[in-house]
Amino acid sequence: MLSKILIANRGEIALRIIRACREMGIETVAVYSEADEQSLHVQLADAAICIGPGPAAESYRKADRIIAAAEIADVDGIHPGYGFLSEDPDFAQQCEDCKIKFIGPRSTAIRMMGDKAVARETVRAAGVPTVPGSPGVMESAEEALPIAEQIGFPVIIKAVAGGGGRGMRLAHNSMSFQKEFIAASMEAAKAFGNGAVYVEKYIEEPRHIEIQVLADEHGNVIYLGERDCSVQRRHQKVIEESPSPFMTDALRKAMGEAAVKAAKACDYWNAGTVEFLVDKHRNFYFIEMNTRIQVEHPVTEMVTGVDLIKQQLLVASGQPLTIRQEDVTLTGHAVEVRVCAENPARNFTPSPGEITLYYAPGGPGVRVDSHVYGGYHIPPHYDSMIAKIITHGKDRDEALDKMYRCLTEYLIRGIHTNIPFTRAVVQDPVFRQGHATTKFVEDFLLRTPKETFIESEQ
Ligand code: ADP
Repeated sequence: MLSKILIANRGEIALRIIRACREMGIETVAVYSEADEQSLHVQLADAAICIGPGPAAESYRKADRIIAAAEIADVDGIHPGYGFLSEDPDFAQQCEDCKIKFIGPRSTAIRMMGDKAVARETVRAAGVPTVPGSPGVMESAEEALPIAEQIGFPVIIKAVAGGGGRGMRLAHNSMSFQKEFIAASMEAAKAFGNGAVYVEKYIEEPRHIEIQVLADEHGNVIYLGERDCSVQRRHQKVIEESPSPFMTDALRKAMGEAAVKAAKACDYWNAGTVEFLVDKHRNFYFIEMNTRIQVEHPVTEMVTGVDLIKQQLLVASGQPLTIRQEDVTLTGHAVEVRVCAENPARNFTPSPGEITLYYAPGGPGVRVDSHVYGGYHIPPHYDSMIAKIITHGKDRDEALDKMYRCLTEYLIRGIHTNIPFTRAVVQDPVFRQGHATTKFVEDFLLRTPKETFIESEQ
């Protein structure tokens, strides 16, 4: 069993991992940037090592500093959390080379799934449905245009290295195709240092439904139901839930089995997520695999009763899975809202600064995963997500009623947050009836008076 690990992350996920380790008797070493000295993960870990200045490129993304910290602290493993180095195959390989257990899949699986064009081909060959698209990377708009015409407009041009909703452009016709192709490629080169793009059919108003998988190092792979993440702003998830209101037992089984096939196709181990788009006829198409723990993992934990972080640690210790597919049952309904320090009145621009007053919601069926507190200063360098509220109810209505109650109770003063916005979404009839597709937020913003969600949180 792993006895001491380093957590190569910050914020709520670092805390989440510390909590699992505490319960399992695993010692923890935090790393932190100069901007995070006051962070809770630094205070709650058994030891903490400063790895550089505030900007992530000079600290949390510096693989060599993290490896050096791991060697100094003499840990057995590194948990990368999400973001930062979690999907960097070179980092995972460095860990392997240094005989430090990377708490995630092996580097070869990360590399394969990290290139979306390779991932598509790999899972397609294994019998998983993919979105109709170009056979791999397209070198130029001229090469890609006839293929786009063959697929049929609209098409989406996507970066092979894409993530976080960036490097993606929609083209409605041949006229705009070249412009969008170049724009996607340039954006990808800037954001990911890799301008390679491919083309996919644009699925109209799909749902984003993903499957959580768990695999051990002995070839066992299971799926733990789905998460519906259709409520997105600019391709970024805002609210997630499990089960999906659009799901049927037959579809869950088909998607679950497809997700297991995708995992097996890249010799996957540890926790992972296979993402699909589902059209209105309930056809599903693979879009990508996230080779790490995800932000929204708690909704799966709430309905399955499985602690995914503990499972990651057990699997990384070489233990076989003790949960069999037939043991997985979904109980009730869980919803997660991502609370972000951003200002809905100013097009959701980040709102860092000091939290002057803080009171988190609680009560039965409520979980708040957060690293912030009253007096905490949100640094400007990182993602704007400051908390996740997760509610669990006997059914969807109860989970959503609880969520609404939590969103009226949560007190965060001194900065702006998206709480008024998420509160309005949770009460929205279209969302309430379970009809949200990935186009929901765009439509909601157009039809909802701004005053509904821009009231001052100051
Ligand atoms: P990222 O890695 O940047 O998150 P994804 O491939 O996971 O990118 O896609 C993010 C979101 O973009 C999806 O949830 C969906 O809303 C939208 N999207 C991606 N591909 C398509 C497609 N072919 N058709 C329609 N929407 C898409």
